[in-house]
Amino acid sequence: MPTPEIYQGFELGPIRPPSEAQSLMLRITRNCPWNKCKFCGLYKGETFSIRSVEHVKQDIDTIRQMIDEIEQGMTQSGGGSRRTLFELQSARPATDQLAYQMAVNWFRSGMQSIFLQDANTLIIKPDDLVTILNYARSAFPQVERITSYARSHSIARISDEDMTRIASAGLNRIHVGMESAADQVLAFIKKGVDKKTHIVAGQKVKRAGIELSEYYMPGLGGIEFSSEHALESADAINQIDPDFIRIRTLAIPEQVELSNDVRSGAFTPCGDLQMADELLLFLDNLQGISSTIKSDHILNLFQDVDGRLPEEKEQITAPIRTFQLLPPEEQLLYLVGRRTGIFSRIEDLNDTELRRHAEKARAAHRVTLENLEEFTAEIVKRYI
Ligand code: SF4
Repeated sequence: MPTPEIYQGFELGPIRPPSEAQSLMLRITRNCPWNKCKFCGLYKGETFSIRSVEHVKQDIDTIRQMIDEIEQGMTQSGGGSRRTLFELQSARPATDQLAYQMAVNWFRSGMQSIFLQDANTLIIKPDDLVTILNYARSAFPQVERITSYARSHSIARISDEDMTRIASAGLNRIHVGMESAADQVLAFIKKGVDKKTHIVAGQKVKRAGIELSEYYMPGLGGIEFSSEHALESADAINQIDPDFIRIRTLAIPEQVELSNDVRSGAFTPCGDLQMADELLLFLDNLQGISSTIKSDHILNLFQDVDGRLPEEKEQITAPIRTFQLLPPEEQLLYLVGRRTGIFSRIEDLNDTELRRHAEKARAAHRVTLENLEEFTAEIVKRYI
């Protein structure tokens, strides 16, 4: 029998969705149980493991106790003096700092939400997840939202009954990295699921009454499968009708497997102009759903592709259509400004000060219509 793991203190995983910046992070599993997607280097070389329910409960107890101390320290009167968060944190031993920093951040942001880490919490036994959710809910009754990442493959294996129990225990939202629903693309990038599984999983989450956020990754089909990628993904999304569709554009850093395919010629990345066309094709083919589109990632070309379907479809797609109608030199300026973080939306082109910065960046990087794609490929690696 393997020796039970000893509790090593509060743990924090490497990432969370942008929308969970204010959440308490609770680490339920470590790393990714799949770890094969060709575009993802996040957990490369790391071993997947599931933390024991008891250890997760200890993390919850630790944060609860720290929050109590913070609340008490900040409001003390009649004998005790009021202390600042900084003073309270400085008084803690070094071994407590990670948990304390998390508790302080969470306290400051109002303690409304919890995010369960790492890549795929729904791989653990439903009974264990229900136990953890109940424990967290009773420790922090004020919490409005508990969310997690999950793979479609794991969700599809959970019974409807268990999914409903998980929902009742308080899991409010699941983020699924669909990335694509084109089977050729899913197979090539080794996502480990097919379109059908994405649909089964998405519909199951919705049936259980849990909010669903699906990620779409422009560019993942490369030049060869760009249209299939957009059309099949839109079709799957139409069958799922998720609450949120989140755009997260492909980037290919050196350390991911897909960069070998780029070097060998097995994968030809789309340039930004084709990426814009593909995104519009995807959005134009979303029909009969009531999802909110979010483009809250620095890698995305248009942060203003944002709104609720169906009523705001024109507004959602307008930035891309405006971009497509620009003369090539203006498109170039927008892309340089966007990729250097100067612009976030198409109308920033009309801001004299921002334009001046973008023109300076263009001159500094010596970007032309001819070398634009190389410039983009290099600069997006800084954001990963
Ligand atoms: S499932 Fe998610 S975390 Fe795991 S390798 Fe794929 S993209 Fe990365």
